[in-house]
Amino acid sequence: MEKNIPYKTYLEESEMPKQWYNVRADMKNKPAPLLNPGTHQPMTAEELSGVFCEELVKQELDNDTAYIDIPQEILDFYKMYRPSPLVRAYCLEKVLDTPAKIYYKFEGNNTSGSHKLNSAIAQAYYAKKQGLKGVTTETGAGQWGTALSMACAYLGLDCKVFMVKVSYEQKPFRREVMRTYGASVTPSPSETTEVGRKILAAHPGTTGSLGCAISEAVEVATHTEGYRYVLGSVLNQVLLHQSIIGLESKAAFDKLGVKPDIIIGCAGGGSNLGGLISPFMGQKLRGEADYRIIAVEPASCPSFTRGKYAYDFCDTGMVCPLAKMYTLGSGFIPSANHAGGLRYHGMSSTLSQLYDDKLMEAVSVEQTAVFEAAQKFARIEGILPAPESSHAIRVAIDEALKCKETGEEKTILFGLTGTGYFDMVAYQKFNDGEMTDYIPTDEELQKSFAGLPVID
Ligand SMILES: *Cc1c(COP(=O)(O)O)cnc(C)c1O
Repeated sequence: MEKNIPYKTYLEESEMPKQWYNVRADMKNKPAPLLNPGTHQPMTAEELSGVFCEELVKQELDNDTAYIDIPQEILDFYKMYRPSPLVRAYCLEKVLDTPAKIYYKFEGNNTSGSHKLNSAIAQAYYAKKQGLKGVTTETGAGQWGTALSMACAYLGLDCKVFMVKVSYEQKPFRREVMRTYGASVTPSPSETTEVGRKILAAHPGTTGSLGCAISEAVEVATHTEGYRYVLGSVLNQVLLHQSIIGLESKAAFDKLGVKPDIIIGCAGGGSNLGGLISPFMGQKLRGEADYRIIAVEPASCPSFTRGKYAYDFCDTGMVCPLAKMYTLGSGFIPSANHAGGLRYHGMSSTLSQLYDDKLMEAVSVEQTAVFEAAQKFARIEGILPAPESSHAIRVAIDEALKCKETGEEKTILFGLTGTGYFDMVAYQKFNDGEMTDYIPTDEELQKSFAGLPVID
């Protein structure tokens, strides 16, 4: 063990970032704008403000301001569970017998169990400040719904969550955590919305998808006085809030006098990865430093590695604006045996542009390999990782093993986005040897691409 690098590096409260960093400000090619699904014209602030809070609309559309002040109330909330530690994985390095130096930024140290609280508190704060009564949202695996429930409880806002039906049934305890924080939780698709009834009529017995739940949550927000819709990933504003992860990581590395060579994160909608890489990508875009940046996605839902870069619907009900992104098509629903989260059909438009500009790489991994890495990590480093996070662990281990072959002493940083206590059905499958891999065929993807909207 090197003497000068501690297992855990925390920032002092006074060293915590006081501004978020907006990577779009340094991008030459800006992410493509959201389009009105009817007119195919860029969404105006006025149009967006029917769906989102005004301050969040501003952040969504702001491609120019590099640093945005974090309001004091949010900083105070952050202080309850931040800074999160930057951990040197000495034990993992030793077991892998690698010359690589592995670090992870651990975001699981709060009740919601993931990084999602970083944006939940920001979005709830702006809703409250606007004088709204409440917010609606969707949740898949449940982390976002939990985080938002916590934030709303803290600020005294009502919170209506549409939870993908299969998760609602598989994760009853997630649901109860949300209800404990005062949220109402409805399994989606439901009979409570017009779009839910339409989806149920077309696909009786469907276990739901994030795309369906988004449509329902947006419908309720836009039809209920004093409510707006909030989203836990994908949007530019969410990446902005999540930049706190990268800013803290960078500050901790600077304190240690260390520079990572490879930065790895799992990618669902892209918020944790976008947040983790933001300040590093900023340096890369400004030509100040170079990093290898790797997005990791499930082979069963491979938006970056097999998707198309095109305008698409963000939701199944096609009520949301169109976003240009790497997408599998809004009708794409990952195989039912896919256990590891990260099941959204699209990807953040900011990350999509960065990927298209070859400023970052992407790999896909199969879920049995992901759970092998998760198990190994739990046994060696002690933390029981979320399946989503374990995608990043898998590739961090693979990169460290490559270093073993080449003898290179690379410094690897990965995002450990959360804990997996509510994912024990998936772990059980893996432990029982019943987990299988499913990779969609080209034919299936072609079928799904056929549903992409035509934009001229
Ligand atoms: C939601 C979630 C993810 C994936 O979402 P992104 O927006 O891509 O970050 C990853 N890990 C955990 C623990 C999550 O809850």
